[in-house]
Amino acid sequence: MTLAVRAVFWMIAYLGAVLSPLVFAVIGASQPDHGFWTDFSVALGFVGLAMMGLEFALVARFRPLAAPFGQDALLQFHRQIGYVGLAFILIHFAISARWSELTLAKALAAPLLVWFGMAALLALIVLIGTSVWRRPLRLSYEAWHVAHTVLALVLVVGALLHVFFVDEYVNSLWKQVLWGLMSAAFVGLLVWVRLVKPRLALARPWRLERVMAERGETTTLVLKPPLAAKFRFEPGQFAWFAIGRSPFSITQHPFSFSSSAERDEVELAVKALGDFTSRAGELEPGTTVYVDGPHGVFSIDQDEGPGFGLIAGGVGIAGLISMLRTMADRQDVRPALLFYANREWDGVAFRDELERLKDRLTLTVVHVLERPPEDWAGETGYVTAEVLARHLPPGYRRFQFFICGPDPMMDAAEAALIGLGVPPERVHTERFDMV
Ligand SMILES: Cc1cc2nc3c(=O)[nH]c(=O)nc-3n(C[C@H](O)[C@H](O)[C@H](O)COP(=O)(O)OP(=O)(O)OC[C@H]3O[C@@H](n4cnc5c(N)ncnc54)[C@H](O)[C@@H]3O)c2cc1C
Repeated sequence: MTLAVRAVFWMIAYLGAVLSPLVFAVIGASQPDHGFWTDFSVALGFVGLAMMGLEFALVARFRPLAAPFGQDALLQFHRQIGYVGLAFILIHFAISARWSELTLAKALAAPLLVWFGMAALLALIVLIGTSVWRRPLRLSYEAWHVAHTVLALVLVVGALLHVFFVDEYVNSLWKQVLWGLMSAAFVGLLVWVRLVKPRLALARPWRLERVMAERGETTTLVLKPPLAAKFRFEPGQFAWFAIGRSPFSITQHPFSFSSSAERDEVELAVKALGDFTSRAGELEPGTTVYVDGPHGVFSIDQDEGPGFGLIAGGVGIAGLISMLRTMADRQDVRPALLFYANREWDGVAFRDELERLKDRLTLTVVHVLERPPEDWAGETGYVTAEVLARHLPPGYRRFQFFICGPDPMMDAAEAALIGLGVPPERVHTERFDMV
C-alpha cells in the first residue's frame, strides 16, 4: 500500500472511531422526552469523548500509524484536535448543565454522573491550560509530562464513568458490553504505551559505549544495541531514549540517530539545551539505555531523488549528518548540498568531519553564520531565499530537501524553497520543538 493510501485509510479509521460512539447517542436519543438540543448536546459529548480517547492513540508511537504522516505531524494533530474536543465538550456542558440549579447545596447532592462529568471537564481544562501556558507557568517539561498523563487518565476515565451512570446509554447487556469494549480500548492504549512497551524494552537493554565532546556544546553518545547486527534504522530517523533510567519512566528523550545507518554502533549527537541534555557529557560508559524506535519518515531512504538539499540549524545537523555518513558508506555519489546555520564558527559541530566527507561524496557545504568572525568570507545572517538561490545547482527543483533546526528557521527555509519553485512534496521537515 502506498503511503497516500495508508494515510487515507487512517483518516477514515479515525473518523469512524470518532463517530462510532454516536450509536449510543442515537439509541439514547430515542427517548421521547429528549428534545433536539439534548440530542445535539449528547452527540457532541460522545464525539468529544471519542476524540479524547483517541488522543492516546496519536501519541502511542505506533509505527504503522506514524508512517504516512510523521510523528511530529501526529503530535501537531494531537494538539490541534485537543482544542476541537475541548470545544465539543464545553458546548455539551453548556447545553446540558442545569444552570438554574447551580447552587452549592444542589451541586453537593448531585448524582455521580455529574461528579464524574465535572472531574473530567476540570481535568481537560487544566490539561489544556498547562499545555498552552507551560513556559509562562514555569513548569518543567518533566513535571508537565507527568501531569499531562495523570490528567488525561482522569479525563477519559471520568468521562467514561459519566456516561456509564447515565442509565439510558447502558441499560441493556449489549450496550454495556459495547461500552465496556470501548472503555477497554481507550484504557488499553494507555496500558500499551506505559506498561507493555516499556516491559518489552526492558528485555532489550542497550549499552552506552563512549561519550565524546563535540563543538557547539554537543556530545556524541555511542551506543551498542543488544543484537547490533539486527538493529537497523534509516538515516534521519529518531528514537525515544531512557538513558540511565527505567524504561517505565514517563519522560524519555527523543534524539535523531546521527551515525551512518550502515554501521552496527549507533551514535547520537546531543546538544546541551536543558536539564538532561546539559549532563549528557557526564554520562558514564556502561550506562544502560532503553530505546523505543526507530521512528519517523524524515529520511533519504523514504524519498529518493537525483540529489539532496539539506538545511540544518544547530543540532538539527544530527539526522542530516547521518544521511551524509550513510551516503558515504554506501558510496552514493548523488549531489548533496548542505546549508548549515550556526551562531558562531567555533560552535559548528562536526565541521572538520564535513570537510573530510567532501572527499567521499559529491558534497557542497554552505556555512551560514549569525555572528561571523571578522575575516569571514562566507554567508552570514539566516538561511534566506537569497542565500539558497546563490548556491542551489541547476535542476535543484527535482532534489529532495530535508530541513531540521529551530522552528522559525524551518518555517522560513520551507517557504523560501517553495518560493524558489521546489514542489512542497519534495520538502521534508523534522521538528525538534514538538511540545
Ligand atoms: C524527533 C526529535 C528528534 C530530536 N533529535 C535531537 C537530536 O538529535 N539532538 C538533540 O540534541 N536534541 C534532539 N531533540 C530535542 C531533544 O529531545 C530535547 O532537546 C531534549 O529532550 C531536552 O531535554 P532536557 O531535559 O535537556 O531539556 P528540558 O530542560 O527538560 O527542556 C528543554 C526543552 O526541550 C523540550 N523537551 C524536553 N524534554 C523533552 C522530551 N522528552 N521530548 C520532547 N521534547 C522535550 C521541551 O520543549 C523543553 O522546553 C529532538 C527532538 C525531537 C522531537
